Amino acid sequence: MFESLSERLESAFKQLKGEGRISEINVASTVKEIRRALVDADVNYKIAKEFTDKVKEKAQGEKVLTAISPGQLMVKIVKDELAALMGGEAAELELKATPTIILIAGLQGSGKTTFSGKLANYLKTKKGKKPLLVAADIYRPAAIDQLKVLGSQIDVPVYSEPENKNAVQIAENAIREAKQQGNNVIIIDTAGRLAVDEAMMTEVANIRQAVKPNEILFVVDSMTGQDAVNTAKAFNDRLDFSGVVLTKLDGDTRGGAALTIKYTVEKPIKFVSMGEKLDTLDVFYPERMAQRILG
Ligand code: GDP
Repeated sequence: MFESLSERLESAFKQLKGEGRISEINVASTVKEIRRALVDADVNYKIAKEFTDKVKEKAQGEKVLTAISPGQLMVKIVKDELAALMGGEAAELELKATPTIILIAGLQGSGKTTFSGKLANYLKTKKGKKPLLVAADIYRPAAIDQLKVLGSQIDVPVYSEPENKNAVQIAENAIREAKQQGNNVIIIDTAGRLAVDEAMMTEVANIRQAVKPNEILFVVDSMTGQDAVNTAKAFNDRLDFSGVVLTKLDGDTRGGAALTIKYTVEKPIKFVSMGEKLDTLDVFYPERMAQRILG
């Protein structure tokens, strides 16, 4: 993940790491290289420019020109700015309510169902919760089966009503069931479409209205770059979600989505998913990710 961005940044810093004095020209060309690397990682130009303007300002403030190791100082400035761009602090899941209701939304194929299984597994094994998974995709019977398979692998019950074509009702019935069975977290996996469309948005918005979730997590495929950011905007406008889940970070993703979603929708990335196995879910730590990018 982010290999190309990491390599490009490393080479941008090279000219500051050599022996001898560095000049203002060196700093300016390093900053320019950083900007190009970000744009090539699918970061929107305006955000890349704003980012490097900030880096330049900090480099002046912290007197990079006269520093003993200007290269190291620049790396630190860029690392801090990358972490800030991705959200600064890690954002915890809100789990105080009993039951806690978590609505999962996103496009078809983004990894919603896989993530729902991973989240249930995480809450069960790491947080001592008793989750119930809910299959609220009324269009694809295969989605119900997929969730059931995942549920059986992690020994978490799955609520479904294959004959019911009313997703709001299914969600409401599932909550009743969870209360009866003593499940303290309810994870509702909703239907997605291949592209943003009004019917899908209305359906998810209706479920939201009916069940008043404590968390709405928007799941997005990190490989889709700027499209991921645009989709996030569309979902956030309708749903006002509480957090983002970036999936497929194990793939050949350039990094643009991870770097700019938080900036664009002002909602934190809460989890990253890095594989199809159910235990490959990680809480998102902006600083660790920045560290990883800079190697
Ligand atoms: P949904 O349509 O949004 O529910 O998406 P699915 O959960 O069915 O995932 C679509 C495809 O992506 C499946 O083949 C998953 O195995 C795969 N997938 C999901 N999450 C990840 C991930 O983090 N990494 C990789 N490599 N594949 C994933």
